[in-house]
Amino acid sequence: MNVKFSNRMEKLKTSEIREILKVTQNPEVISFAGGLPAPELFPVHEIKKISSLVLDEMGPESLQYDLTEGYVPLRKQISERMNRVYKTELSEKNILIVCGSQQGLDFSGKVFIDKGDVILCESPTYLGAINAFKAYEPEFIEVPTDDFGMIPEELEKILNQRHDVKMIYVIPDFQNPTGKTWSFERRKKFMEVIEKYKIPVIEDNPYGELRFSGEILPSLKSLDNLGLVVHLGTFSKTFCPGLRVGWICASEHILEKYILIKQGADLHTSSFSQRIISKMLENYDFEERLSKLKELYKKRRDLMIFEMKKKFPKNLKYTNPDGGLFTWVELPEGFDGRKFLEECLKNNVAIVPGGSFFPNGGHENTFRLNYSNMSEEKIIEGINRLSKVLNEFEY
Ligand code: PMP
Repeated sequence: MNVKFSNRMEKLKTSEIREILKVTQNPEVISFAGGLPAPELFPVHEIKKISSLVLDEMGPESLQYDLTEGYVPLRKQISERMNRVYKTELSEKNILIVCGSQQGLDFSGKVFIDKGDVILCESPTYLGAINAFKAYEPEFIEVPTDDFGMIPEELEKILNQRHDVKMIYVIPDFQNPTGKTWSFERRKKFMEVIEKYKIPVIEDNPYGELRFSGEILPSLKSLDNLGLVVHLGTFSKTFCPGLRVGWICASEHILEKYILIKQGADLHTSSFSQRIISKMLENYDFEERLSKLKELYKKRRDLMIFEMKKKFPKNLKYTNPDGGLFTWVELPEGFDGRKFLEECLKNNVAIVPGGSFFPNGGHENTFRLNYSNMSEEKIIEGINRLSKVLNEFEY
């Protein structure tokens, strides 16, 4: 049928990861492709009990329409926790509850981007953000990024040349896809540049609390003197993604715009999910839960890195992250990550080719591995299979 779609639909294509995830539904496939948390640590029994409690204590309210901004006690709990963990100075008035931080990304595009505006991002950056922003038809400029984060001198060079930059998108903690974390020095320098040019920053932070070693670093939001930083948080990786509860924190004059967009998009985030999370935070030991997650993910990271060191060819590099869910592999020029994936799938193991994480293409000699979702046995067997493919693959 010949229907006419909007121009923006021409720019959108399905996420490569979603397509790979379909193939990995096959139980024979060992998948290091998705970014899925370990399901064995989902708080199923706790949520069962808490759901009854929520229905007993506030049944009709938890099933009714809610405030667009979100459930006030949960917004208070989040702002207090952010202040403690990330050294911010926020109140519930700075928090809007959204359906996962992915919704925060989409809304950021709606709030800041007109067709043709420039978005600056790390190189590489999160594929889901590239796809969310693409709907608003921006131009992406990738800012050179090294092991310590976005390079402030390079950022400043671009900001000097381009006066149509509307927003900067960054993931300073255990980045998706590289697993890298910005140093404190870099955070400070970055904020100095931002305050000079006064560009809004989207600080996306789904993994910050999953730190295996060292101290949690102050967030960009805590270094934000002018109210330019919009910080995105989520319970997807610390509780479970299925409840779809995340948050946006920003200065009130920016948050107002997001609230308007939220009203038009879906009125509010699930009343029931928000109350379940709020009661979980109230009645259960969140720190203990985080410790269990970090212990398991550290074990899996250690094992994956150990196996890679033992079995992978010596001409490649990979990151050894201090937290989060991913390691990033770089091969010599000429390696084709997409063809490599085809070979991997023939051997029942999956990765994500790194090229998809660069909005302007290139860098096909890279791939991303996830270590949170597979058991220890599968990590060993999966790295065996990958090593076999790598050793036979021509590049
Ligand atoms: N940002 C980043 C960097 C992510 O890795 C993810 C999840 N993979 C999200 C945002 C979206 O997470 P959610 O919507 O579940 O909060």
